[in-house]
Amino acid sequence: MDFIPYATQSIDETDLTAVREALSSDWLTQGPAVPRFEQAFAARHGVAHAVAVCNATAGLHIACLALGAGPGRTVWTSPNSFVASANAALYCGAGVDFVDIDPVTRNLSVPALAAKLAQAEREGCLPAIVIPVHFAGLACDMKPLRALADRYGFKVLEDASHAVGACYEGQPVGSRCADASVFSFHAVKIITTGEGGMITTPDAALARRLQLLRSHGITRERAEMQLADESTGAWAYEQQQLGFNYRLTDIQAALGCSQLERLDALHAAREHLAHRYDRLLADLPLRLPARAPGPGTLARSSWHLYAVEIVRGPGVADRATVFARLREAGIGVNVHYTPIPLQPYYRALGFGPGQFPAAEAYAAQALSLPLHPRLSEAQQDRVVAELGRALRA
Ligand SMILES: *Cc1c(COP(=O)(O)O)cnc(C)c1O
Repeated sequence: MDFIPYATQSIDETDLTAVREALSSDWLTQGPAVPRFEQAFAARHGVAHAVAVCNATAGLHIACLALGAGPGRTVWTSPNSFVASANAALYCGAGVDFVDIDPVTRNLSVPALAAKLAQAEREGCLPAIVIPVHFAGLACDMKPLRALADRYGFKVLEDASHAVGACYEGQPVGSRCADASVFSFHAVKIITTGEGGMITTPDAALARRLQLLRSHGITRERAEMQLADESTGAWAYEQQQLGFNYRLTDIQAALGCSQLERLDALHAAREHLAHRYDRLLADLPLRLPARAPGPGTLARSSWHLYAVEIVRGPGVADRATVFARLREAGIGVNVHYTPIPLQPYYRALGFGPGQFPAAEAYAAQALSLPLHPRLSEAQQDRVVAELGRALRA
């Protein structure tokens, strides 16, 4: 039997043609395909500015920097995420803390955030930035989060790595309620450039700061230069701050443009399979992913992951057993995520078990089932049959 991975990329002939054309063009590093991809991505997500970067982790790093993370400041995020969501703040020298999740959506709980903010205000340690993570592609509840940001004066940076093309209140995720949003184009994500990422923002000045941080802190714009005068030649450039080489290549951007054209089809395939899982798994001892609140496309998950929780009870096998049985049967299940504060690196910073009980309870029973556009219904039926068997104690 073939191994069925939990996620994999979808590359078709149009993608191959786009990459072949980029490779035969005059540009391999950042050239004309990068702004083309940025503009197409911004248009698709209904936001004014998009800045392409070499991966989402780099995007979170420079977005944190540009939004004011640094020594003496704190960034809060969800414990139920990939480590990059928190690491980005540490790269800037900022401190990190976490806000527990809502057990139904598995996203950062906005009521828990409100309570933690009230306490932080009393103690004089409000965060500079809060990073909600749209877990599995289901948007966090951004409107009340935005209201808290306006009341307490912190910036909102969405980790939208899972949420390319997802909708919140009828609008695409990506900076309607946030100061900036970061998307990932890693191979397992909704669309891919191999490695790659995008930062979107409605703020032109912030977008310019991000462009500079992406490329060594260097400007070639005469109007921005600090030292230029009439004698300065056209060769001149100025490094004005410490930036990085976080650029995307034109080869990757060409693939990104082509993948973006396919986004609706890729999305529809994921959604079809997710709704089919909902039906096929209804009678098993599982807690299924929450549907987005609100009707239809008003709140549409991008379905990056289909994560279930095992409901423990008599006759139900434990998670480790279910996981091992499925892997043995060639089903590529996974767990998203071990809470970030339980990682050894974060334990050494003072975090530990018991601090974020909802994230820990979810993680203890979580199982991500295979979900990607190339998964056939026959393969999905096999996943469901094996899962039914594996769950029996
Ligand atoms: C994948 C992912 C990242 C990192 O993305 P890269 O493009 O691999 O750097 C960050 N946050 C979350 C939630 C992710 O899933």
